[in-house]
Amino acid sequence: MAKTKTHHGKLVIFSAPSGAGKTTIVKHLLGKYGEKIAFSISASTRQPRSGEVNGVDYYFISKEEFLHRIAHKEFAEFEEVYSGTFYGTLRSEIERIWEAGKHVIFDIDVEGGLHLKRIYKKDALAIFVQPPSLEVLAERLYGRGTDSPEKLKERIAKADRELAYANKFDVILKNDDLDTACSEAEQLLENFLKS
Ligand code: ADP
Ligand code: 5GP
Repeated sequence: MAKTKTHHGKLVIFSAPSGAGKTTIVKHLLGKYGEKIAFSISASTRQPRSGEVNGVDYYFISKEEFLHRIAHKEFAEFEEVYSGTFYGTLRSEIERIWEAGKHVIFDIDVEGGLHLKRIYKKDALAIFVQPPSLEVLAERLYGRGTDSPEKLKERIAKADRELAYANKFDVILKNDDLDTACSEAEQLLENFLKS
């Protein structure tokens, strides 16, 4: 029997330094457009935060399993985002969502976002979420209260480097006032999905 052709959807990528607000914006969009888009659940070797659920927020896997999956070429992209901590997009995740007839929405780091854009080109919209400043981003990370002082330092140092990548993206979305950023994100998504 002939294999059914997979629906080929689009990819909407939100990238930014940690603390810029991409998870908040992506969750807002999923709440509003959940019948059209689905979240690409990344694999990660980090520990779950309180309230995070395996298979919902991430596929939390061991470093050993992550390396095994790299060796078997199961990732569309992956990065050692922080020293010793891996994150990656499984090819099977994109296929799963396309097969369900939906478009894929991503919350991934800057390098990973640009990597997917290089692979999927016009089928992908790469959005850089820009915080008002590095100081505000640091305040948001402190306010989130999910990382140890050491991890916070690492995230802020990386954020400083990542902010320089903004111009490589299709669009820069400023996240100063959250409501404004969410409405602008809705507009970007609607325009891209009907293009
Ligand atoms: P990221 O996914 O980019 O790491 P989050 O979405 O987790 O960032 O946001 C980091 C913190 O900042 C969270 O506590 C979130 O509630 C808060 N936040 C996000 N956007 C804004 C905003 N526009 N103004 C104030 N706080 C914000
Ligand atoms: P967190 O630990 O705060 O959930 O995520 C840390 C960083 O890793 C964030 O910038 C997040 O977007 C990024 N990230 C999450 N999933 C992936 C992924 O699959 N690939 C890449 N390259 N980065 C990811």
